[in-house]
Amino acid sequence: MSSLALLHASQLVTLAGPARPRVGKELSELAIIRDAGILIRDGKIERVGPSDEIERILNANCIQDLEAARNVKTVDLGGRVALPGFVDAHTHLVFAGNRLDDFERRARGETYQQIAEAGGGIWSTVEKTRAATEDELFNQAKKRVDWFLKCGTTTIEAKSGYGLTLEDELKILRVIRRLNDETKLEIVPTFLGAHAVPRETSAAKHVDLVINEMLPLVAKQKLAEFCDVFCERGYFDLEQSRKVLTAAKMLRLKLRGHVDQLSNSGGAKLMAELKAATADHLEKTDEQGIAALKSANVQPVLLPGSVYALGSTSYPHARAMIDAGLAVVLATDFNPGSSPTASMPMALSLACTQLKMSPAEAITAATINAAHSLNRGDKIGSLEPGKTANVAVFDCEDYRELAYWFGISQVQGVYVHGQQI
Ligand SMILES: [Zn+2]
Repeated sequence: MSSLALLHASQLVTLAGPARPRVGKELSELAIIRDAGILIRDGKIERVGPSDEIERILNANCIQDLEAARNVKTVDLGGRVALPGFVDAHTHLVFAGNRLDDFERRARGETYQQIAEAGGGIWSTVEKTRAATEDELFNQAKKRVDWFLKCGTTTIEAKSGYGLTLEDELKILRVIRRLNDETKLEIVPTFLGAHAVPRETSAAKHVDLVINEMLPLVAKQKLAEFCDVFCERGYFDLEQSRKVLTAAKMLRLKLRGHVDQLSNSGGAKLMAELKAATADHLEKTDEQGIAALKSANVQPVLLPGSVYALGSTSYPHARAMIDAGLAVVLATDFNPGSSPTASMPMALSLACTQLKMSPAEAITAATINAAHSLNRGDKIGSLEPGKTANVAVFDCEDYRELAYWFGISQVQGVYVHGQQI
């Protein structure tokens, strides 16, 4: 038995509350305890409360059990803010190389079409990823895992989707599994075989390949918990997306979807129809789409980093979604093309400045709501007794500073299963 007591947080942002995703006013209720501490035992949270109370419990435990007393460590957080580790519910972690040339071309004002014609775009990442070995992909992604941890994120969702052949998609999912096993970051795998239409085939043929060959093996080898699809003009239309996701559902995978990013194509309604866990992007979703998501309790995953990095201003209607009672989630969309950031604090900043969410709403969307969207709301996303002791400590006194100071890392310490990393 080993115990750790974190003491004297200026604000312990616990997010304690109902055991379900938070909606409406609940998004603003962070359940903060001032001058607070956490008692952690064997990687799990045992108690949270005012520091003096935690110290009293600690002293009483030590008197009762001298052996246990030798295994207690206390850390003075020195009046800093502590939060549950961020949960990033939408990332594309595993790919080869980068898209620096696209980035520079975009900066010079070239369009997506021009960039694709010059050999850039998603296809360039697919080619590099196909050519990379499993070890190469692992080593490149491992560096990115450190970025997430350094930004205070302790759980991410990660998608395949840059392989687009059976063997290359399985390769990416195996790398995700290995990263989950061999690093401190918890990684929830999603199969995104229908991310783009490969150059060598048609959308219809690729959908057949995904359904008949990829999905059965992904399910059999238990390489993914979720299935995702890119539902958009030029990618996979509504009917093709419905086919892929329905086949995934039959194999007991849960569903997520890239929908309504570039056009309002009815993607949100499709995700509601299929009772998906989440509908992601939603930059173009209208009132009817929002109502459909509400009717099926689908969680919207908002990705302001991709709007920002593409130099667009077409942000999703977060306020309308909150007003409609949706359990909003905030994520980075980490990927080499449209959102090269692993920083949830950056997402918080964008949520407040561009989506007009309050700092408290953004934090709820980046922790407990994100955890529920990954089917882990009972284990992570809040600092409550019985949950995993994933804690991020920030060098500031007020939680609102996380979203306020941008481009500056305030992360002072990260604990995963009660161990500092
Ligand atoms: Zn994405």
